[in-house]
Amino acid sequence: CGIVGYIGARQSQPILLEGLKKLEYRGYDSAGIAVFTENGLEVTKTVGRLANLEGRLSGDPLRGTVGIGHTRWATHGKPSDVNSHPHTDNSLKFSVVHNGIIENYLELKEELVQQGHRFLSETDTEVISHLIAVEYEGDIVKAVQKAVRKMRGAFALGVLTEHEPDRLVAVRYASPLIIGVGNGEKFIASDIPAILEHTRDIYILNDGEMAVLTRDSVELMTIEGNFISKDIFHVDWDL
Ligand code: GLU
Repeated sequence: CGIVGYIGARQSQPILLEGLKKLEYRGYDSAGIAVFTENGLEVTKTVGRLANLEGRLSGDPLRGTVGIGHTRWATHGKPSDVNSHPHTDNSLKFSVVHNGIIENYLELKEELVQQGHRFLSETDTEVISHLIAVEYEGDIVKAVQKAVRKMRGAFALGVLTEHEPDRLVAVRYASPLIIGVGNGEKFIASDIPAILEHTRDIYILNDGEMAVLTRDSVELMTIEGNFISKDIFHVDWDL
């Protein structure tokens, strides 16, 4: 299970795929990416090896400079195309990758179903994209904070919304996540090897912390919304 995200000036698809390959050692059963293309937030995902995903994308690439990618280790819902990440909400404007487990997802899902939400997958993760959509009032950071406060369990998240295509939001709680700081480009990843060929300047998120990435900035804060500052960790080793 792994997460990679990119916001910058280069095409995101090859960076996401290469990053996911570097995380293969963590194990996975399916993989997918979401990219802002000229048609909006587009998702390609499939059960099986990364080679399957690459196969699909080679004929029909997702072109865009902002994206998130995921390798899944199924915990809730069998390995299948629909259960693969990224997951979206019913408006298709929000996209989420998640490592970990949402312990109270069934009760959250029941509430959402009563409110008229339709679910496509059997995953715990899909409730996150719906919760964020429900909480969204024009600021993706606030929406993520509110959604996360309703969730119990373990989660590393990468979140994109078509409403704010120049921001990538990352959250860490009991599942690893790091931020890579490049020149005019920023990264998220489950582990350093995924992005080491692009940058050696890293922020390591602690539990309960989140980051808001643009091409030129990284804002660090707690899930409660208190801004924090951290030293950059400079990686001086090679793979
Ligand atoms: N619990 C989520 C799922 O089953 C995420 C699993 C993971 O960490 O890859 O889809």
